[in-house]
Formats: sequence, C-alpha cells, structure tokens
Amino acid sequence: MSSFMDWTHYHRIEVIYAWMDRLAAEHRNIVKLHKIGRTVEGRDILLIKIGVNTSPKKPGIFIEGGIHAREWISPASVTYLINELVLNPNLRDAIENFDFFVLPILNPDGYAYTHTTDRMWRKNRAQDSALLTTLTNCRGVDLNRNFGYKWGKVGLLENPQHGTSLPCLETYMGDSAFSERETQAVRNFILAHPRKFIGYVAFHSFGTKLMYPWSYANVKTHDWKELHNLAVHLAEGMFEASRGEDRYEVGTAGTIQYTATGGSDDWARGVADIKYVYLVELPGKGQGFLLPRQWIQHVGNTNVELIRRLSTAIANKL
Ligand SMILES: [Zn+2]
Repeated sequence: MSSFMDWTHYHRIEVIYAWMDRLAAEHRNIVKLHKIGRTVEGRDILLIKIGVNTSPKKPGIFIEGGIHAREWISPASVTYLINELVLNPNLRDAIENFDFFVLPILNPDGYAYTHTTDRMWRKNRAQDSALLTTLTNCRGVDLNRNFGYKWGKVGLLENPQHGTSLPCLETYMGDSAFSERETQAVRNFILAHPRKFIGYVAFHSFGTKLMYPWSYANVKTHDWKELHNLAVHLAEGMFEASRGEDRYEVGTAGTIQYTATGGSDDWARGVADIKYVYLVELPGKGQGFLLPRQWIQHVGNTNVELIRRLSTAIANKL
C-alpha cells in the first residue's frame, strides 16, 4: 500500500485525508474542506466543497461515497472524481454552474476497520446499547438503513436485505432513525445549508446499476419518467467512457435490485426535497467488493462522465 495518494492503489483513510488537506491548500480559490462530524472512534467526517465563485445562490450537488465500508471502489473512484473536478478543464462548466459537496468516506470507522481487521465489514463501528452488540460481530449499524424516511417499515418475514432490527445482521437499521453520528452529520449539513441542493449521487458497489427513487418499496415518484430518461442518458455516457465495457442497468431498486428502507437516496428525495437523486452500483468485474485496483481509473473515468452529463443536463433544465 502506497503512503502517497494515487489511483493505482486503494488507500487508507489517513492517506486520503492528507491528500484532501493538500488539495484544499493548493486550490484555495475553488476548494474548501468542511468537518461535518466526528465518529465514535474519533475520526473526522470530512467533506470537500468544489466550486468556482462559490455562493449560496449556486445550486448544490451532493456526492456520497463509502457509506458501506467494504465497497472500496467507491471512495477510490470518488476521490478520482474530486481530483478531476478540481483539475480537469472539461469539468470547468460543471464547477461554474454548481457547487459540489463531496463526502468520499461517509463511514470512516468502518472503512478503517476493513483495512485493519475485516475486509468484508459493511456497517459503522458503533456500540449499540443492546446487550447483543457486545459480541464482536454484532457491532455497528448499516448507515444506508438508518436515514429517516420510511425508516423501520419492515415486516417480520421480509428479506433482511431490506433492513432489519436484529443488531447482529449486516443490514441492522439502528435503534431509531438517525441514531448514528454519520447519518446525523449528512442530515444536519444538508438541512442547515442555506443553499438549494438539486442533485444527490451515492456511489456503492457492486452491480453496474443506476437507480432512482424510490428504494423503500416497489413504487415510483411522480416524475419517474424524467429521472429514468436522464438515467438512460447517463448510462450511455458511462458505457462510452468505459469503452463499451460497462453496461449500466437503469431503474428503481424495486425493479432491478431489491427494496430497502432508510437509504440516503430516499431521504434525499423524500425529506431534503432534492430533485435528481441517483444511486450507483459500480462494477465488480466478477470480483465483487474485491475489485482489483487496476480498475480504479477505469471506474473513475466513468464517474467523471456521469457527473459531467448530470451537471450539463440539470444546467439545461434550470
Ligand atoms: Zn453499498
């Protein structure tokens, strides 16, 4: 593992945060860091803002990575995207039209734990009040089941992937909506912000899918056709950027994946009232969560095209 930032390795959180500090120091005119919260293990939840002539009058686009600890390609390709947003002239229009708020590692403790102890860990590392969680495997909350929109609406016979109140399972939703510092940090930052957020993109792995709300059940928003048509356009761009490698499937969770409650995507749309919300399942290339590092730049380039097309499309609609 390299101790300097690049996109040919998966890096530890310390390397990524040190790089974000340097990037902000070197590009003060367009980059600013925000510590939006602190985890139970004392790590900062670090967000980077990128924009030209930044102002609350500019619409914001929020980008989230690393909510699930083991999905390493998410922080790796989202930091690639950050670097391109700052340095690539092809994205200049995007950062002139929008301010980007990028949180590359939403789940810092979980991410660190996948580097030190358990590569396949998914949740955060919170210690729940319930007795069961004193057992090692029972720690942590699935942060993408902990957001407060339709939270906890889970039938007993439901597939646990949908969300569960059993702490030992990987998709444990927590004691209550927003019980976790990481989800609180995102909620508080977005709701307290004086600006209008128009876009929200969450990067996960794996599956090569591009989804729009809703995720809590097999239902669609009133404007789903518009979200769908834009998703098709984005998927075409990702296909081209991947040189014909990655064919993203497009739809709602209920139609192309499985439904789940308490996701950030549903909260972004249902409570924060953000119009263009997408959840990306990045490719696994047959290796699942263990996508080899040789793919980081490939996936990073498809993320760049996704965000470039999304920004252009929204700017044309505004
Ligand atoms: Zn995920």
